[in-house]
Amino acid sequence: MKKTVLYIVIPCYNEEEVLPLTGGQFLGKIKGLISQGRVGDESRVLYVDDGSRDGTWRIIEDQARADGHVMGIRQSRNRGHQNAVLAGLMESYALGCDAAVSIDCDGQDDIDAVDRMLDAYEDGCEIVYGVREDRHTDTFFKRFTAESYYRFLRFMGAEVVFNHADYRLMGRRAIEALSQFKEVNLFLRGMAPLIGFKSTAVSYARRERQAGRSHYPLGKMLKLAFDGITSLSVKPIRMITLTGIAISLISLIGILWSLITVWTGHAVPGWASTACIVFFMGGLQALFMGIIGEYIGKIYLETKGRPRYIIERRTFDAREPDERPICEVDKR
Ligand code: UDP
Ligand code: MG
Repeated sequence: MKKTVLYIVIPCYNEEEVLPLTGGQFLGKIKGLISQGRVGDESRVLYVDDGSRDGTWRIIEDQARADGHVMGIRQSRNRGHQNAVLAGLMESYALGCDAAVSIDCDGQDDIDAVDRMLDAYEDGCEIVYGVREDRHTDTFFKRFTAESYYRFLRFMGAEVVFNHADYRLMGRRAIEALSQFKEVNLFLRGMAPLIGFKSTAVSYARRERQAGRSHYPLGKMLKLAFDGITSLSVKPIRMITLTGIAISLISLIGILWSLITVWTGHAVPGWASTACIVFFMGGLQALFMGIIGEYIGKIYLETKGRPRYIIERRTFDAREPDERPICEVDKR
């Protein structure tokens, strides 16, 4: 039986501090799996440099030069984590992988979970989600906000796997299916469950970042959550409609009540209540228009259909062997 060709896809953005530490771990994993006979010798570590401004690309080039199992592609500019992962998955597909695992480059996700992901893949699963075991190492605040985040996403109609980020194995068929999702607003962890196929989860303990600092401060996290909701669900708009209906009904009662007070001669000059209603309605309408505007903005971006990633450089020649020039010059 032909052995699985596995690609480990690693997005990197300004990671010169951590890459020298974790690079060896990824390569060690691939080589270990190859020597155990679990995956084919064509398996690779594929770095996606997301337009870093530091020495990240140089490190990737050095690692690729030092070992044939390492490859790298570089995006023409920084496009964000989700687009970098997508670029890596599509490149792995084009290079003929059977399965690809996406993992962050900072060593937070336990690379040894790949073994169990492979077990599940061999069992027929097309998607295997890496799920954080528990959050006992987190502070109460972190645990509470993270878990509320997943609950909120689900409540808003975005189907996500609890405590799963972007550490996942996808089989070739799943990647092919993903390539048919044409949206430019990407939220991969919400798109993967929509693909279907047999899937499962493996749990692992998430560690601290090995070096460098996070690129996901609270603001970016909230943006990702908001993008996730508006990319995957129209539930907020439906909730606006329902709120509109509820407010209309309440106002109907209010109108009846004010008419009755006029008829019974009890009307008093009510500036405060009028002002409160005006402020409240003004705020509510601005909020609702904002939410609807978010969706219109998304439609605007989608209709443009801009490329979701642009690859500027590769550490290898992507052309078919017979298309390559006979006298190969090192273009790196
Ligand atoms: N990343 C990326 N492009 C970006 C931001 C981040 O490719 O614009 C990569 C980053 O190098 C890392 C992964 O995405 O491999 C996750 O980022 P980070 O560790 O900063 O996020 P956190 O784990 O703190 O949520
Ligand atoms: Mg991280």
